[in-house]
Amino acid sequence: MTASPGPEWLHAEVTAVFPGGLDGVGPAEDLLDLGIDSVRLMLLVERWQSAGFDVDLVGLAERPTLAGWLELLRAGAPSADPAPGTAGPLTTTVLRIEQLTPRMVRVTLDDRAARFAGARPGAYALLRADGIAEARPVTVHPHPASGEVDVDLVVHDQGPLGRWAGGVRRGAEVLLDGPHGVPELPGGPADWTLLVADHPAQPALAARVAALGAADRAVVVAVVPDAAEEQLLPTAADLTTVFVHTGDVEPVLRAVRAAVPGTGRGRAWLAGERHRVHALGEALAALPALAGRCVAEPYGAVPAVA
Ligand SMILES: Cc1cc2nc3c(=O)[nH]c(=O)nc-3n(C[C@H](O)[C@H](O)[C@H](O)COP(=O)(O)OP(=O)(O)OC[C@H]3O[C@@H](n4cnc5c(N)ncnc54)[C@H](O)[C@@H]3O)c2cc1C
Repeated sequence: MTASPGPEWLHAEVTAVFPGGLDGVGPAEDLLDLGIDSVRLMLLVERWQSAGFDVDLVGLAERPTLAGWLELLRAGAPSADPAPGTAGPLTTTVLRIEQLTPRMVRVTLDDRAARFAGARPGAYALLRADGIAEARPVTVHPHPASGEVDVDLVVHDQGPLGRWAGGVRRGAEVLLDGPHGVPELPGGPADWTLLVADHPAQPALAARVAALGAADRAVVVAVVPDAAEEQLLPTAADLTTVFVHTGDVEPVLRAVRAAVPGTGRGRAWLAGERHRVHALGEALAALPALAGRCVAEPYGAVPAVA
């Protein structure tokens, strides 16, 4: 980690996730043309955000050169003194708790989280609370009228966030850092949109689906542990939803292949456990209808608040 990144450091960072290597690559060459796809880009975003850099996938994807990234990383280098109210964690309090499914709880945070009101659909915050010393990323669902923010959390006993979600009480203090950006759906004309999300990514899926318009046709493959975890996905779009009750890649892929329309040009968004997302991303990239128009949000990293 460095607070003042230089070209050699950046070279080593990118090479760490892109074993193809960068030898001979000039500062103005388009890295996406060289094979740095959205999955690798997301790995870099996670890596840099967890080191405290204020960069996001959208920004890096818009300027995909070594020179562009160096500028963004320098501008977003960890600062010991963030501007009050605009950066760094804010403190908020749990107002309400609602059990959405047996293993998903909705936690509503008070209006001190109002700065999240303008967050893009699917944006996330880094959350810390009692027992969660290392911040965890969670999707935020802002309510601009009230300034309140919902976070929907998987309850499990394997890690601090899952345990906190299982025992959270009204009045609990929560530190939120963000909002942090997420990749936009690939632009340009699309006849349909495929969205694939596993259990912890259901909140992000709900936000993405809710943001689709009445003219959109969408196919969702939701990977959840069992029928009790299936949630409704309100949207204006023409939506087909398929639930899959196993995280194994092959059944998910079969469900995707069966569900996507046989005609037209598609685009895709994938989110969830890192290895599954990588495997699905590689398989979907080969679908002619998608022609590589696929963005991925691999979960599983545990970034720390700077
Ligand atoms: C952009 C982004 C947005 C996210 N949004 C949300 C969200 O809105 N809601 C949400 O719940 N999660 C969300 N996640 C995922 C969440 O941040 C991670 O699952 C987090 O690592 C879980 O933290 P933990 O402290 O419970 O477990 P960790 O400390 O990360 O892991 C400890 C152990 O728990 C296991 N584990 C982790 N998650 C689960 C699980 N769901 N079930 C069973 N075992 C598990 C791990 O495999 C590991 O063995 C998001 C992640 C990202 C990257």
